[in-house]
Amino acid sequence: MKYKTIIEPFRVKMVESIRMTTEKEREKFLKEAKHNLFLVKAEDVIIDLLTDSGTAAMSSKQWAGIMIGDESYAGAKSWKKMEATIKDLTGYRHVLPTHQGRAAERILYGCIGGKGKTFISNTHFDTTRANIEFSNAEAIDCPTEIGKKPSVKHPFKGNMNVSKLISTIKERGQENVAGVILTVTNNSGGGQPVSMKNAKKVSEICKKHNIPLIIDACRIAENAYFIKQREKAYKNNTYKEIAQKMFALADGCTMSAKKDGIVNMGGFLALNNDKLTEQCKNELIITEGFITYGGISGRDMEAIAVGLEEVFDPDYLQYRIASTTYLGERLDQMGIPIMLPVGGHAVYIDAKSLYSHIPVDQYPGQSLACNLYLKGGIRSSEIGSVMFGKKGKNQELIPAPMELVRLAIPRRVYTQSHIDYVIEVFEQIKKEKKKAKGIKIVKEPKYLRHFTSHFKFV
Ligand SMILES: *Cc1c(COP(=O)(O)O)cnc(C)c1O
Repeated sequence: MKYKTIIEPFRVKMVESIRMTTEKEREKFLKEAKHNLFLVKAEDVIIDLLTDSGTAAMSSKQWAGIMIGDESYAGAKSWKKMEATIKDLTGYRHVLPTHQGRAAERILYGCIGGKGKTFISNTHFDTTRANIEFSNAEAIDCPTEIGKKPSVKHPFKGNMNVSKLISTIKERGQENVAGVILTVTNNSGGGQPVSMKNAKKVSEICKKHNIPLIIDACRIAENAYFIKQREKAYKNNTYKEIAQKMFALADGCTMSAKKDGIVNMGGFLALNNDKLTEQCKNELIITEGFITYGGISGRDMEAIAVGLEEVFDPDYLQYRIASTTYLGERLDQMGIPIMLPVGGHAVYIDAKSLYSHIPVDQYPGQSLACNLYLKGGIRSSEIGSVMFGKKGKNQELIPAPMELVRLAIPRRVYTQSHIDYVIEVFEQIKKEKKKAKGIKIVKEPKYLRHFTSHFKFV
């Protein structure tokens, strides 16, 4: 008998208490945090869906690895294990450990970026864009048209817009395009997968124009799950084989191990190019650490090696995607507008449509994120014009293409009853949606403003 209930394929061995709060208390907490959920204390949150990054529960095998971590400065056993695991997975010749994904990005894009250079991606993740722009290069997103439409179902909404990629290369001149970045799954565009067919096409174009292709591999295992389910040619491959095939199409990758590495800290850069690797190693030593540990302790490298194996376990991946889908489908049935189909690591609420009475320059996404916290102690994150909005000539807002709120699901952390609670909070949000108010920014920094800006309800 094959039962339809997909259970969490693990038992709980250690627990962490959640402190319950009242709506009244949360009103005070939110005010103190200037209506920015990044500034709310974690202990004042009931269900923390701010990010799936670094928030995973490690397995007993990973914790066992922590105990045998080799903390030698150079050539540690744990480094050798991590390096071997990554070389086997990616097939790339060189691996550089970094303390997290953005350090790999800063090193790589600092080396190949710079003034006059352009990078093209299906969608640059916020830290990727920030690091590229910090080098004075330009980051251009080329998502597909269908990828921009939250309610339209398509199996691979994370794909690169190939014709736009070609026209952008032509327009900029191929010698000025320093890299093409394929983000799998496409985080900012909705946690949506990229097909192997699309990756192949992108790879061909890059080869033809002599442009390096870099994979932002943060969720390569989750992407592989979707390829196996949705792309017939790969249904008999293992998830790991699918990931390997995708890596083989590119010249290198950056990865935050805080996602599909199922650890709390760590990342890496992997490359084939010897000369570029030497350049990156110099940068690594200056800001991260020696080449056999980067910014990571030996014990954490041990845990990454184990995590990168566990993430390809078919039972794990099935549970992982099923639990995200469960939340998405319930919200969809309730009439909450969400990005369809549901992606791998998160459910994205279309706040522009839910709060259709709030204009985009009053940030409907930030308003919804605040209300989710007030009503249920749920922490989410705005992925809209607070995160990606730009300023025009007269300081007016040039809005992001979508106003989304992301409910990111930490790996192996919450059970189904936690998720059922989130669903119930949404029933309340729906009842009170007409009463929701817009938000204004009262203080903002120059880069990555969503992290530290101060807000107010209008
Ligand atoms: C998280 C993330 C990064 C950056 O990694 P950090 O470990 O947070 O520095 C880059 N790209 C994508 C797609 C991500 O999700």
